[in-house]
Formats: sequence, C-alpha cells, structure tokens
Amino acid sequence: ATPMSIMTATGRGAQVGVLIKNAEALERFETIDTLIVDKTGTLTEGKPRLVAVTAEPGFEQTELLRLAASLERGSEHPLAEAIVRGAEERGLELASAEDFEAITGKGVIGRVADKSVALGNLALITDMGLDGRSLSEQANVRRDDGETVMFVVVGGQIAGLVAVADPIKESTPDAIRSLHELGLTIIMATGDNERTAQAVAARLGIDEVRAGVLPEDKAKLIRDLQMKGTKVAMAGDGVNDAPALAQADVGIAMGTGADVAIESAGITLVRGNLDGIVRARRLAQVTMRNIR
Ligand code: ADP
Ligand code: MG
Repeated sequence: ATPMSIMTATGRGAQVGVLIKNAEALERFETIDTLIVDKTGTLTEGKPRLVAVTAEPGFEQTELLRLAASLERGSEHPLAEAIVRGAEERGLELASAEDFEAITGKGVIGRVADKSVALGNLALITDMGLDGRSLSEQANVRRDDGETVMFVVVGGQIAGLVAVADPIKESTPDAIRSLHELGLTIIMATGDNERTAQAVAARLGIDEVRAGVLPEDKAKLIRDLQMKGTKVAMAGDGVNDAPALAQADVGIAMGTGADVAIESAGITLVRGNLDGIVRARRLAQVTMRNIR
C-alpha cells in the first residue's frame, strides 16, 4: 500500500470521528467478513437505569435496594452505577461495604453493616449453592423485554431481584442494517443472560448470539473463528473487552469506553456509534481498491 493513500484515508476517517491507528488496521479491515459486537455500551447506551426491585417474603424492598446499592458503590460496572443512582434518586442513605469483591462477569459480594450481601447473575448464585427458581418466571418476563436482572442475596438467602434497562443507541439499528448490506455477519457476544441477549438481538436482526460469555471467552470465541479462516473484527467498550479487541484481526473501540479498550484497538470510534464502522469499511474498500 502506498503511504499517501493510507494517509488520505486516515485523515478522512479522523474528520468523521473514525480514528485508524495504522495502515495495517485499514488493510485488514477490508478483508473482514465477521463482526463481533459487545452488547452493553456498544449496541446499547451503556447508561442503564434501575427499573424494578422486588423482594422475597421476609425481605423489604427499600432495605434490599439500600443493601444492594451500598455494596455496588465499590464497583465501576455500568450496572452498579445504575443501582447506586436508582437508590440515591429514591433518597436512600447508603452504608459503607466491607470485604468487597467484584467477580468478573458474575457480580459483587461483600458485607454491609453486619449482613453478607451478594448481587449478580445466575452464575454467581449458583457458585454460592443457591438457585433462583422462585424468581425465575418474574426474571424471564423482564429479560424478554431486554432488561438485565440481578439476584440479591442477603445472609445467604435469595432476597429478591433488581432489574435494569439499557436502551439501544439511536444509531444502532441503521448501522446494523448497513453493515449487513456490506456483507458482514454480525455476532453479539455478551456477559449478559441468554434471554436478555436474544431479546436485544432480535430487535436488531443480529445473526448470532453468544450469551453468558466471560471476558476471556470473548477472545477464545474470536480465536476459534480465526482457526476456521474467518476474518474477525470485534467492537467493544469495556475493560472486559480488551483481550478480545487485541485478539481480533481488527479491534474497534468505542471512544466513549475504557482507555484500555482504546489502547487494544486498531480503530476507535470517537462518538461511540457503530455507524463509524460503516464509514471505516467504505474507506478501507475505496483505499485498497485505489492502491491495487
Ligand atoms: P457485558 O458483556 O454485557 O458488558 P459483563 O461481562 O460485564 O457484561 O457482565 C456480565 C453479567 O455479570 C452482567 O449482566 C451481570 O448480571 C453480572 N455482573 C457483572 N458485574 C456486576 C455488578 N457490578 N453488579 C451486578 N451484576 C454484575
Ligand atoms: Mg460493554
């Protein structure tokens, strides 16, 4: 590739908020046939909102939210922010947590006042030897609406659930449509629950869904596809996505996301909208065509 046309392309990209790190990223991007996308913060706003708290018999809704939010103050996860904000908006006085621990892709555990508290997905409570059967119907109704449901455990007992909704970005549906028109296969990979993931994917016409994926498994999913000869781009925003962004033939970070994601990526979408990928793809095609 001649440096001049690459420079023209990267310059044009920059003007529209698509930062291309080097010639290699641009050259490779033209050969991509599959795009893996993270859900939270990539397809969705990544600014989730608390929409429900339900308590099991023997537990009180407000107290449950207070305990959950007190624990989540120690977490930087967008879901945690939603729960803390939700509690603050309801005027709750939060306590400080002790022995706080974040369990990647699963949730958080710790102690608030004298109570052990845990908050997270089914994998987390399964690890604790619990099952969420009494809440599964309620949880599924919410997941079918695309909401993320987290179980709250207090004193070793399932105490209730909190539900959080994260709207799809306004730019996402059109971007997915255009990416399909450009011939890409689109796979969603998310740490979230299967049902929630399927609900979001169905709305967007995404080709394939891998749910309940741990961060290290996102990179493995990409490696497996690459072994079959697939050329893979990965778009993500989180600290969790960094290994996958590095593994992909081209990593695409949301400019609105974590610094480590941006460092791991070959392309950064300044505005954090997927329509930047459509532009990058067209730029790559035009540039490589001109060079040949
Ligand atoms: P994603 O791939 O969608 O960005 P993550 O891998 O970060 O998701 O998280 C996967 C799941 O683990 C979440 O959907 C949630 O159920 C649970 N989880 C992770 N972090 C937290 C937290 N701080 N509080 C509660 N649940 C959490
Ligand atoms: Mg994310």
